[in-house]
This record gives sequence, structure tokens and C-alpha cells, in this order.
Amino acid sequence: MITINSDIFLKQSADRNILENVTKYCSKCYNEFSEEDFIYYDVESYNYLCKNCACCISEELQTKQECLLDECETEASLF
Ligand SMILES: [Zn+2]
Repeated sequence: MITINSDIFLKQSADRNILENVTKYCSKCYNEFSEEDFIYYDVESYNYLCKNCACCISEELQTKQECLLDECETEASLF
């Protein structure tokens, strides 16, 4: 099960202020946010994403980290 990486994504609910002054759309899939939707602020790229996209990116990062861990273990076993 994929959890959204809370080190990277700050969960917020889309209030009127964000929708009117910051963004109305997910910066990845361009879905329009509605008021009260949960949206995810990416602290690395400074974008707002919908839940689906935040999930997707978290999943990619998790997979990458697992690959890195595997590599470390393989190298360690050479010694
Ligand atoms: Zn999206």
C-alpha cells in the first residue's frame, strides 16, 4: 500500500484563498481542485498536486529508495 510521503508533501485542504490566489489546478494532471479537496504541496518543486499525483510520485520515490537499498546490500556483500 502506498502512503503519501509526508517529508515531501504537505497535505492541505483547498480553501478559497488557495484556489483564488495560488492555483486551481494540479500541476501534473491539470485536474481542477474543488474547495475542501485535499491537495498536496510539493516542497521540492513548489507545486500543488492532487492526491492521485502525490500518490504516484510517492510510489516512484519509494521504488527508487528500495532499489538503492538493494544496491547497497549487494555492494556490502562483496566485502
Ligand atoms: Zn494530479
